[in-house]
Amino acid sequence: MRCAIYSRYSSDLQNERSIDDQVRNCRQYAHSTGWSVLEDHVYEDRAVSGASTVGRQGLQQLLQAANTRPKPFDYVLVDDTSRLSRDQMDQQNIIRELVYLGIHMYFVSQGIDSRHEQAIHVMLPVHGIADSLYRLELGKKTLRGMAGQVLKGFNPGGKTYGYAYTRLYDPNGEIDRKTGHVRFLGTRISINAEQAAVMAEIFKRFSAGWSLKELAKDLNQRGVRPPGHDTQRRILKVRPSWCPNALRFMLQNRKYIGDWTWNKTRSMSNPRTGKRRYEERPREEWVNAIYPDLRIVGDSDWEKVAERFQANKHKGKRTYGGVQNTYLLSGLLHCAVCGARYVLVGGGTNPDPLYGCSLNWNRGRTVCPNSARVRKSELESAVIGDLKKRLFRKSVLKEIVSCANEKLSSARSTHATEIAHLEGDIAECKRAIKNLMMAVESGEVFSRSIQDRLCEKETELRETETRLALLQRAVQAPKMVIADEFVESWLLRLNKVFERDQVGAKAALRTYLTSIELEPIQEDGRRLLRASSRPNLVAIFDACGASKGINSGGRI
Ligand SMILES: [Zn+2]
Repeated sequence: MRCAIYSRYSSDLQNERSIDDQVRNCRQYAHSTGWSVLEDHVYEDRAVSGASTVGRQGLQQLLQAANTRPKPFDYVLVDDTSRLSRDQMDQQNIIRELVYLGIHMYFVSQGIDSRHEQAIHVMLPVHGIADSLYRLELGKKTLRGMAGQVLKGFNPGGKTYGYAYTRLYDPNGEIDRKTGHVRFLGTRISINAEQAAVMAEIFKRFSAGWSLKELAKDLNQRGVRPPGHDTQRRILKVRPSWCPNALRFMLQNRKYIGDWTWNKTRSMSNPRTGKRRYEERPREEWVNAIYPDLRIVGDSDWEKVAERFQANKHKGKRTYGGVQNTYLLSGLLHCAVCGARYVLVGGGTNPDPLYGCSLNWNRGRTVCPNSARVRKSELESAVIGDLKKRLFRKSVLKEIVSCANEKLSSARSTHATEIAHLEGDIAECKRAIKNLMMAVESGEVFSRSIQDRLCEKETELRETETRLALLQRAVQAPKMVIADEFVESWLLRLNKVFERDQVGAKAALRTYLTSIELEPIQEDGRRLLRASSRPNLVAIFDACGASKGINSGGRI
C-alpha cells in the first residue's frame, strides 16, 4: 500500500504532541505492516486549530492531491482522529470524500481503518464526540484560568498600548512539575510612562478638536513609535506608522480610564469562512476589574472624546463604503512606492473624484511620500485604452492561439493515462461483483450488507464506465485546433463588454489583470503618474479555451 501522512499541531495546547512525534508514529506503523510512505505526500499543518478546516493549507493540499488521477496514494495515515479535525462533521466529510476517491484512512493510535464499515459508522462518531467534548472542556478550563488571573490583578489577554507587562515567577523558586521551570504566577500590568504620556496627549488633542487623520499624521511626522510596531514591520513595505482607524479604537478603550473589565465579548468564528466576529456576553459573565492606578486619562477628557464620537455617529455616513464597489478599478490599484492601495480621496460627493495612495492620504507624507493624485475618469479611460491596445496586437493573438492549442494537446495526453487507469478499475469492479454474486447465489451467506455492497459496486461500475466512454469519445474525436479567427472573435466580444457593460467590464478586468501599480514620475519637468500592470495571461487562455467547451483535464 502506498501511504500519505497527515499531521497537525495547534498552538493553543501546551502538551500537544509535536508534528515529528505524529509522523514518527505513522511511519512506525507503516513499517510494521510493510506499507510504504511516499515522501512527496507527507502533509502537515503547524499551529492551526482543529475547530474548522478553513486555513489548513496542508489538509487542502492533501485533498487536492487525492483528487488527481491516477490516484497518487491508497491510504492516508493519521496519528489520531483529533488530528484530522476536532469537528465531527468535518471528520466525516473528509473521510467520505477520500473514500469516494478510492483512498482509505488509517488512524494509528486508535487503530481505526476506514475500510471497515463499522469504523465509519460507529468508531469515528464515538471518537468524534470525545474530541468535540474535549474542545469544549478545554475552552471552559482556559476561561476559568483566565478569570482567576484577572481576579488576582494579573493580565490574562493581549497587550494594550500605554502599559508595561512583567512576567512574575514564584519568589520561593517553587518548580512547576508540568514545565520543569519555576512556577509562573501571572503577568503584572503597570503604566508605561512614555506611552501613557502619548496616549494622554492623543485624548487631549482629540477632545480639543483635532481630527483622527491630523493626529496620525502629526505622530508619524514626529517619529513617535506606533503600537503594533513589530507586526506592521512584517506586513508593510514602509516603516510602521500610526493610522486613523487604530486611533479611533484606542480612543474608545475603557482601559485608559482604569476599567479592565474582562470577558465582555466572545468571538465566534464562521464555520464556512473561518472569519471571526465579536458579540457581547451576558453581564453576569463579565469579570469586573477596576484598577484606578492604571488610569491614564481623566474623566473630563474621556467624556469629551465620547461625546465627539456620539455626535459623529449621527453625521453623514462615509460616502464611499457602498458606492466604491461599483467603480471599475477599485481594489486593483496599488501605490508603487509603498505597496498600499490607491483609494478615492476627499470629495465624497464629487462625481469624478480623485484616486490617491491611502497611506499618504491617511498617515501623511512621512509614511509614503507619493502624493500624486489622478482623476477617476482619466485613469479608467487610460487603463481600458491601454488594455485594448495590448490585447489586439497580432503577436498577442498568436501567443494566445498557440498556448490554447498546447493546453488542448496536453489534455489529450492526460486523458490517455486516465483511460488506462479506469480500465483497471473496471476490471477490478467486475471481479468484485462476480465474487459477491457467487456468495449470494450459493445461498450460504445472505445478508443485507452483501446486498448493499453489490449495489454499491454496481453503481461504481456504471459511473466508471460512463466516465471512460466520455474520455474515449474525447480522445477519438478528430484533433481539435483553435483557429486565429476564433480567438479574434473572442477578443472582439471582450471589447464590446468594455464598451457597454460596466459590471461585465469590472469582472473582466479582475480576471485578466492582477494589479495595477501607480508610480509618480518626472518627465520634461512635468509630474506624471505611470500605471503599469501585468495581464493575467493564464486567465486569458482559460477563457479562450473554456468558451469553446474544451475540457482541460478535470471531470467531464
Ligand atoms: Zn504610497
